[in-house]
Amino acid sequence: MRTEPQAAPYRPDPAILPLADWLGDPVAAADFPETRLRYRNDRWDRAVGLDSLDNDAWIAHFGRFAALPDNLPQPLALRYHGHQFRVYNPEIGDGRGFLFAQMRDSAGRLLDLGTKGSGQTPWSRSGDGRLTLKGAVREILATEMLEALGVYTSKTFSVIETGEQLERGDEPSPTRSAVLVRLSHGHVRFGTFQRLLALEQRDEMAQLVDYCLASFPGTEPPAGAPGRDEPAVRLLHQVVERMADLAASWMVAGFVHGVLNTDNMNVSGESFDYGPWRWLPRWDQSFTAAYFDHGGLYAFGRQPEAVHWNCGQLAVALRLLADAPPLIAALERFGPLYMAAVARRWCWRLGVTPRGQEPDMALVAACENAMRTSGEAPDRFFHRARAGRIDDQAVSEALAGYDPAELERQWWQQEEPVSLLIDEVETIWSAIAGRDDWHPFEQKIDAIRQLGQALGEPPRPSGHAG
Ligand code: AMP
Ligand code: MG
Repeated sequence: MRTEPQAAPYRPDPAILPLADWLGDPVAAADFPETRLRYRNDRWDRAVGLDSLDNDAWIAHFGRFAALPDNLPQPLALRYHGHQFRVYNPEIGDGRGFLFAQMRDSAGRLLDLGTKGSGQTPWSRSGDGRLTLKGAVREILATEMLEALGVYTSKTFSVIETGEQLERGDEPSPTRSAVLVRLSHGHVRFGTFQRLLALEQRDEMAQLVDYCLASFPGTEPPAGAPGRDEPAVRLLHQVVERMADLAASWMVAGFVHGVLNTDNMNVSGESFDYGPWRWLPRWDQSFTAAYFDHGGLYAFGRQPEAVHWNCGQLAVALRLLADAPPLIAALERFGPLYMAAVARRWCWRLGVTPRGQEPDMALVAACENAMRTSGEAPDRFFHRARAGRIDDQAVSEALAGYDPAELERQWWQQEEPVSLLIDEVETIWSAIAGRDDWHPFEQKIDAIRQLGQALGEPPRPSGHAG
């Protein structure tokens, strides 16, 4: 079974405040014409001790952004730069969001509540600072499904519909508006470091490194790694470990994020900021999610390479504090860590216990080949394989000698896999858009959570928690 989020008392800790002067700008939320609660995360609200809020108080905090007790006195729009489709952009930053609050969980780890669609900030450029309700619904679905599939992801904490009419090029317009609150271990992006390099703010970067090491505990660099006592080097090792696992987890989930820009990479190793994402309808390395990704830069099969490239940009920024060789040594761990994570997670999704020390890439290749040949959707393939209904000879042979994991025996007797292909997402949205009917959405969330329960705890590298 999946361990549910651990309940904790509300423990505010605005740990960012000593960095706030140079890390962000105090802002105010937009004054929305309406605030209608559409989703509150009744699993994760407990983890930060906010489950006792009634709906009115919830709306006051997550629709009107009344400060939480002993927390940030004012929302903070974070400053950052980033590579967007490999082009450096110093003009970005939180253009439609801000950091709202920080709390400790039951294990003492720091968690942030950040927003999307909460209004304009100094970084909005020509944008309206808003989020569409469809965008919010898509982010809820993506985060719930990714969590079920064992991906370390931000959680959607709250969605409140805000009663505005938005104009968007990629949705029939006018379209409904919403404000979303996201729960994640920090909002420190690779682009946050890139900005400090660009401004040559060495002291600030050292402070930020210390903040990350203290806030998001990870493992120590391997024995013998050069410069392993230096904070910047330690941080890069941790980030590389987490990002290799993250990239692997998307691949095993059959997920295409769509926009792997450096401002969308969290040093905590959580995936976040879900825009044009898709799940694979078939095993296809060249499958692209974003309609504007003409070159296929962030296609399904290129995601590990994109994440590795982004880690390289973080290393470039950390050169402000450390020499190149120890940073390069950390980067070089990405490939082997990625392979090990793919193999480990592949077994998890198949419901078998991994064997031996070396990653069994032959098993992965046999399954990939079977999917490629049959054109079957990955969700269906894994569902069938996990239920022991394999009809591909090479996969059967590759699986010979594997023991079913404990959980395999509990695999629930459901004929159809739970999937989240684009047609179903559009159908769920049509019911909301056309008839304000949220039932298909709610049923989907229930089914996804059952899938997560049935799959159980995913294998994670040490130092990681859900
Ligand atoms: P994204 O592609 O969503 O990661 O956004 C890239 C940058 O554009 C970030 O700095 C966002 O805050 C900003 N941005 C995206 N949409 C809007 C919007 N509607 N209004 C203002 N800024 C936005
Ligand atoms: Mg973003």
